[in-house]
Amino acid sequence: MKIIDAHMHYYDIDKFYEVAENAGHENTAACWQQICQENNIVFAVAMGNSEDAPSRYGGSTPRLINLSGPFDEKNYNQPLSMGYCLGVKSEDITLANAEKTAQEFEHYLSDPHCLGIKFYPGYRPVFIYDERHYPLFELARHYNVPVAVHTGDTATPAAKLRYAHPLTVDEVAADFPDVQFVICHCGNPWLLDATEVATKNDNVAVDLSGLLEGIPGPHFYRQNQGYFDYLGMWLRYMNRWDKLMYGSDWPLINIPDYIAIMRQLIPEEHQEAFFYSNALRVYSRIQKIL
Ligand SMILES: [Zn+2]
Repeated sequence: MKIIDAHMHYYDIDKFYEVAENAGHENTAACWQQICQENNIVFAVAMGNSEDAPSRYGGSTPRLINLSGPFDEKNYNQPLSMGYCLGVKSEDITLANAEKTAQEFEHYLSDPHCLGIKFYPGYRPVFIYDERHYPLFELARHYNVPVAVHTGDTATPAAKLRYAHPLTVDEVAADFPDVQFVICHCGNPWLLDATEVATKNDNVAVDLSGLLEGIPGPHFYRQNQGYFDYLGMWLRYMNRWDKLMYGSDWPLINIPDYIAIMRQLIPEEHQEAFFYSNALRVYSRIQKIL
């Protein structure tokens, strides 16, 4: 079965080399390519980070594709089977510069490999529904690209969880019905809330990236049956298998282990949609690249 990884990071920062090692991988282009070949991963959506970003759109976006060679803004060493979402550094955006920020982002959207816009509430102390984000939502609507929103647990205690609750996405999903939103990480551990927001709003999809990290091993699913029963219960109750996407959050997780766990979670008849075709529809620019 062909797989699209709808949420990963391809980024050259020290922390990612360490977490990749903890997951049994290397944070290198060669390792990523080998994993893709071994697991039939035909395309990946790299989420632009905004750490170390000198500007509002963060040198982040070119830098995220810097693993296979020195940084080169014109030819940034991106595998052809990878697109990216622009990372947003919300706290640097103000109502005064919001329009200008959107114009700066627009420059990147002329690149067909630019697939969407990624927000980091929680890591960034700004709610997704803050008005400073509105021009970026208008931009997403104009270019018909999705807005991906970090929700749920964060990797650092310095982050603030209340900004990252999945219920906050309902505010913008309701006010921008023509914009496609993606609740990243299914709001983990607020799984119920995330599925409710996706159930209620036609324009909200969910990715199941980053629920675990490291090397879960072959018995993880059974050992954590209660967690997966709970998640599976709300996914079945939602009963919208067209809204769910596979994502790894590479380099955080061992990829073969995570795929195996997801195969146990998602009913077999919905796996093609989950692993492949839903991502192709939500990140629709992929269709022009693949
Ligand atoms: Zn991520």
